[in-house]
Amino acid sequence: MNNYSRHHDDCTPAAPRPGALPFHPVDLCQPDCLKSCAACCGLYNWQDHSRTALTEIVGMQTDLFLALESYDDLDAYRRLRNTRISNAKLFETIYNCEFIGFIDNERRRVGCLLHPSVTGDHTLRNHCFYGARICHEHFCPGYGCLTTAEQLAVVAAVQDWYLYGLVITDIDLVKEFFRHIENALGESIKPARLSQPELRCALLDFFSLKEAWPFKAAENRLGKYYFSASEYAIARIDYRARWGVPESRFDKILVSLESDFSCLAQVRAAESLLHAKITAFVKAYANT
Ligand code: SF4
Ligand code: SF4
Repeated sequence: MNNYSRHHDDCTPAAPRPGALPFHPVDLCQPDCLKSCAACCGLYNWQDHSRTALTEIVGMQTDLFLALESYDDLDAYRRLRNTRISNAKLFETIYNCEFIGFIDNERRRVGCLLHPSVTGDHTLRNHCFYGARICHEHFCPGYGCLTTAEQLAVVAAVQDWYLYGLVITDIDLVKEFFRHIENALGESIKPARLSQPELRCALLDFFSLKEAWPFKAAENRLGKYYFSASEYAIARIDYRARWGVPESRFDKILVSLESDFSCLAQVRAAESLLHAKITAFVKAYANT
């Protein structure tokens, strides 16, 4: 959770940084100076979690925090911040930390305004709901479930915080993409090749679907989850019951992209779109 292993003064994107974090070869929270993630701090847990809405909230929190003369009354900061938010939480039981902000002058990196590397104080994160220890020690499933090649693919391709955080936390989307491309290629992706411009372009073309998916449900979801009776559940697609056909070969991707289809023709159109993006990457990989 925003484990700032070091400052990122160089802008080399997608470089593997062995040993940047204990046990983890790639620093997913703060991979380089072009982007970062704060998803587990509740960044996206708003009814309106569009790029515009989140840029406004994070910018407002940053401005308020930077205007503080001291850190002596963070409750006053919190109260003031709450009066400036018109958005509503998406999942009530998930904490939206008040201390997410932009941590660089260019406002390209989201992160923790209370982090010791920002404030010089190791105890301030006890002012948040999780407390300093959890904030320091948390590593999301992206660290444990994604392979190094999968992690590097996202880091190499996505260069802005909004899309980056959406993708790096979507395990199904990334793993399924890799399963399809590696099956088609008949070999494992070599991480060293992922910085090639053609491949980065094809990867970004696929991952960008996360922000601009034409079959996105009108119902407000976050990835594969929707909110129901104080719980969040997976919004599955029942192909058999609705259209009498077997599950799509792209089912996990379709669910991750928050799909909602009114007819089978839409399912097939979505599959064609995914097939085209996957094929484009496979061709680029095979030809470069
Ligand atoms: S969701 Fe994962 S990558 Fe993002 S800030 Fe949290 S621990 Fe880091
Ligand atoms: S204090 Fe808030 S923003 Fe900082 S790491 Fe903890 S949850 Fe995230």
